[in-house]
Amino acid sequence: MSAQIIDGKTIAGQVRAEWKLRVDNLIEKGITPGLAVLIVGDDPASTIYVRNKIKACSNIGIYSEVHRFSGNASQDEVLDCIKKLNRNEKIHGILVQLPLPLHFKNDQVITSIATEKDVDGFHLYNVGALVTGNAIFSPCTPYGVMVMLEKNNVSIEGQHAVVVGRSNIVGKPMALMLLAQGATVTVCTSKTKNLASFTRNADILVVATGRAKMITAEMIKPGATVIDVGINRLPDGKLCGDVDFESAKEIAGYITPVPGGVGPMTITMLLCNTIIAAERVQTNIGQV
Ligand code: NDP
Repeated sequence: MSAQIIDGKTIAGQVRAEWKLRVDNLIEKGITPGLAVLIVGDDPASTIYVRNKIKACSNIGIYSEVHRFSGNASQDEVLDCIKKLNRNEKIHGILVQLPLPLHFKNDQVITSIATEKDVDGFHLYNVGALVTGNAIFSPCTPYGVMVMLEKNNVSIEGQHAVVVGRSNIVGKPMALMLLAQGATVTVCTSKTKNLASFTRNADILVVATGRAKMITAEMIKPGATVIDVGINRLPDGKLCGDVDFESAKEIAGYITPVPGGVGPMTITMLLCNTIIAAERVQTNIGQV
């Protein structure tokens, strides 16, 4: 039997329509949510991601601005810009497009963002909040996965969730969010011995490794929910995930495709986090 496909594009469209009402509500009260994106260098993939983020902002009614720096800009130049944006009342969210050039110290740059404007949720303070189960901003990709599970009524509490990958932007926050919802969580890495013995026990399997089609049907528990975060380009130019979709869909209960799965959710959750940041400002003004 074939798995039910979790269609990220459709869910992203629904979420954006729901959240557009919140933007309209803010604008009525005189607050236009604002996002600033900083990009250093001319990495082609980053340039496309930034363009897509700006377009998505414009479609939902969020004001956005891009601050571009050449690849040999100094870290201080970027920090100065962030300082100004931290004080700028038009801007509710600040995002530094990663990766930064090698002469930058990622942590120093990210922790210079005001915590209440850290819409990527990567500031150490916000990471700590997530660890304690009191997330202030949930990192966009795992947040998108949680919304996809919710919209498909996939129960999490008491389920065994296996996350393959432990990056700071996907694997680790994903594991923490599933844990916060009551799942029993196992995290696997490149050092895990006998990976299949873990993945075969997963009710919910989230894969974020960047290794094309590494999860095959025999590594999946029949009926499991399989979320494929990976985006890989094959030699023929086509995109594929970390899961071998064709074989996996014959055994999984639910599965996300690539493209059209998690990808569209990531930018959507960035919009949501920016709207949340603006709503918090509005609430604070209301309390004065
Ligand atoms: P990283 O390279 O930072 O992390 C990859 C993780 O996978 C590491 O923890 C690594 O383990 C683990 N890993 C690698 N090979 C194996 C293996 N054979 N078995 C088990 N674990 C393995 O990648 P990211 O987390 O940033 O991204 C992962 C994928 O998700 C990429 O394809 C990326 O393009 C995609 N992505 C997609 C997004 C979306 O919006 N859909 C957003 C962000 C990322 P170790 O730590 O031991 O090295």
